[in-house]
Amino acid sequence: MSELHVMSTQQSPSIPLSAGTGTGKPLSVTKVRKTYGVMTAVDEISMEIGAGEFVTFLGSSGSGKTTTLMMIAGFVEPDSGSIVVGGRDVTRLAPQKRGLGFVFQQYLLFPHMTVGENIAFPLQLRGVPKAEIRRRVGETLEIAGLAGFARRRPRELSGGQQQRVALCRALVYRPPVILMDEPLGALDKKLRDQLQTEIKRIQQELGLTVIYVTHDQEEALVLSDRIAVMRDGRIDQFDTPRELFERPCTPFVADFLGAANFLPGKVEDSTAEHVVVRLDTGGVLRARAQDVTAGTRVRVAVQPGRLTPVAPEAGFCTGIVESVTYVGTLVRVTVLPEGGTSSTVVRLEVPAGRAPYVGDRIGLSADPGDVSVFAAGTEG
Ligand code: ADP
Ligand code: MG
Repeated sequence: MSELHVMSTQQSPSIPLSAGTGTGKPLSVTKVRKTYGVMTAVDEISMEIGAGEFVTFLGSSGSGKTTTLMMIAGFVEPDSGSIVVGGRDVTRLAPQKRGLGFVFQQYLLFPHMTVGENIAFPLQLRGVPKAEIRRRVGETLEIAGLAGFARRRPRELSGGQQQRVALCRALVYRPPVILMDEPLGALDKKLRDQLQTEIKRIQQELGLTVIYVTHDQEEALVLSDRIAVMRDGRIDQFDTPRELFERPCTPFVADFLGAANFLPGKVEDSTAEHVVVRLDTGGVLRARAQDVTAGTRVRVAVQPGRLTPVAPEAGFCTGIVESVTYVGTLVRVTVLPEGGTSSTVVRLEVPAGRAPYVGDRIGLSADPGDVSVFAAGTEG
């Protein structure tokens, strides 16, 4: 609800007056911190964002996404740390002086203005000549698939169309960075999917630098070049989707993005090539080389899609198939592992046609490259 809180201090859409173009990186955030009483909303977050990057803050509700974005925007003042846009320190500057574009969940269009006038507004503020305004508004409407809508009023548009107008207004003056806080949160699933594709297309066509906030993993994966996975006001990992999946830094990231299986065990051997883990269920599992020493109690994480059913005894564990569920062309299978004390169900996803039957006794195998090892007791 903090979106609402923040927005209530802001009666009209904020239109920056001067584009903050400069030489440095589009955005650099250093050790930014925000507390509310005893509550730490954002705990010394740092990040650098490159030109043309689509970056997403992903995390559950309350993890500090909006607060971080609002500090970048200038609506929330950090307790400490600095924010640099295009080489210029904007930490203490008012939002309208930062030259950033915003799109919020609430569209915040001027109701008395037409679509064209709404989009023209930021250009008028900057004193752009009329003919140039007309050209740019037309071009932007076209890019957003809104050609022909210029004379309509916001109330004559659907939610999805209004949000596209808000997007047009944010990008018409080509700000160095566009900030979006759950802009599709109020739309239904189908429209959301459609607009995701469109936002991505526009971002790529125009080479926009975007920071996007969402709590939806799928949305983050569809849109982003890099994702900052946030938890309790901190960034657990800031990486490409591929790295987050293949080399999660924390159990939280492995679970949040990949819904990983976690299997308890103990490290038998750890070398530059691999880590060998003796699972509590009895079997031995090889993982990619990681920074753990022999003898350490660990949790091994493997995503359901990276497990392969093999012959009994041929894998790192053997178990009985408990359930088989068809989900489109994928099949979700749960297996109850034999041995040890663990009664943890292991989840796997296999292509349709390779699904075992309920009651089958199967082995499970995984490529060491797909196996992450975390010291037991690691948070998350
Ligand atoms: P997110 O956007 O990830 O859901 P927020 O950044 O809105 O999270 O909030 C992070 C934490 O800071 C939450 O616990 C929230 O309750 C708290 N918080 C945010 N804004 C305020 C505020 N204005 N006053 C007090 N607490 C706040
Ligand atoms: Mg939020």
